[in-house]
Amino acid sequence: MIRFANPRVPCPFCGAVVPNERCPGEPYECASCRAKLQMRKKGSGKLLYSAVAISVAVGWVGGARGLGLVTAAAIIFFVAFGVLVWLQLRFFPPPFEPYDGHKIIG
Ligand SMILES: [Zn+2]
Repeated sequence: MIRFANPRVPCPFCGAVVPNERCPGEPYECASCRAKLQMRKKGSGKLLYSAVAISVAVGWVGGARGLGLVTAAAIIFFVAFGVLVWLQLRFFPPPFEPYDGHKIIG
């Protein structure tokens, strides 16, 4: 089971709060109306670009240049992306949308 923050994102169909845990690779399921749900995918690219920008900035400020900067940014990226994803799920959870049947990563 994957569990993030406290469940508080409502189901788009019935408005009930969707349990914030699921099996890896499975969609979320509304406990009230049994709708299969996924977190909204649109906009998730912003986190990725932000993480890249933060990584390069931190590496640059830390004194890395050239190939060193690329290496440092690559390492920092995983930390920055993880922190951003955690922050988003904790403070700005994306709304649920109907499960589109595509593979779920994670
Ligand atoms: Zn529902």
